[in-house]
Amino acid sequence: MNRLDGKVALVTGGARGLGAATAKMMALGGATVLITDLLDDAGAATVAEIEKAGGRAAYLHHDVVDEAAWAKAVKHAGETFGGLDILVNNAGIASDGKSIEETTLEAWRRVIAIDLDSLFLGIKHSIPALRARANRWKGGASIINISSIMGLVGMANAASYIAAKGGVRLLTKAASLELGPAKIRVNSVHPGFTETDMVKNALKDMGRRAGEAGENMMKDMITARHPIGRMGVPADIANAVCFLASDDAAFMTGSEVVVDGGYVAQ
Ligand code: NAD
Repeated sequence: MNRLDGKVALVTGGARGLGAATAKMMALGGATVLITDLLDDAGAATVAEIEKAGGRAAYLHHDVVDEAAWAKAVKHAGETFGGLDILVNNAGIASDGKSIEETTLEAWRRVIAIDLDSLFLGIKHSIPALRARANRWKGGASIINISSIMGLVGMANAASYIAAKGGVRLLTKAASLELGPAKIRVNSVHPGFTETDMVKNALKDMGRRAGEAGENMMKDMITARHPIGRMGVPADIANAVCFLASDDAAFMTGSEVVVDGGYVAQ
């Protein structure tokens, strides 16, 4: 038996990157997956890939900062797939590499809205649906919040991202205490640098600032911060998310799962 058989998952930002890898792995594990994102073509392509592999998925356009859209997304999961058992709050953006002194309040608020406020909205609006089916599973329902190593340690020129991801870490713990009695587990995942479009674009930006050959130099520098000798690949993170979603993690809530090749061990 697959470990997510019969469960319905909603994965935000599931069109590409870590979200797409998670959606695909969950579907392979037996879950039915509602992928939401702003990138409609990429979202549809991810659904097509899942279906081609024999899985079940659907796509919904959904801006995670829009509260009304959250209510619709949870309703959509209920109407299309019969309920909701797993919420993966994955959608996120990087900050723009500026120092605190150079950052406008508007730019700060945009990152906090997408990378932190949206998780509050996602948790809040999915609680009734998750609670309704939690007793079906040994491990109850599961919310997985994607934070970062940048929610555990700091980095210069990324203050809004770090503040948001640090907020996600403790929002997770607060929610786990409130929702434990309802059999809804809430955990955070803290990826190290992982090869996705977000990181490729950030490396390009950092590289441009560092001058000629900067991008490769930045990549080597960042890789060297991971004692295991490489950056992550999306499947590294998806494995941890699928574990937390499954009944194998029935006794885990309020925890922070670090998947970073040793980045924060030093
Ligand atoms: P990505 O840019 O490849 O994917 C992010 C997805 O989120 C995109 O499909 C994007 O369209 C979507 N998204 C952005 N804003 C949205 C919004 N307002 N509403 C709905 N969808 C929205 O990035 P990724 O690397 O796959 O990142 C996924 C998550 O993992 C993010 O929360 C990111 O902060 C976190 N993370 C990534 C890394 C890494 O190294 N890649 C490390 C730590 C944490």
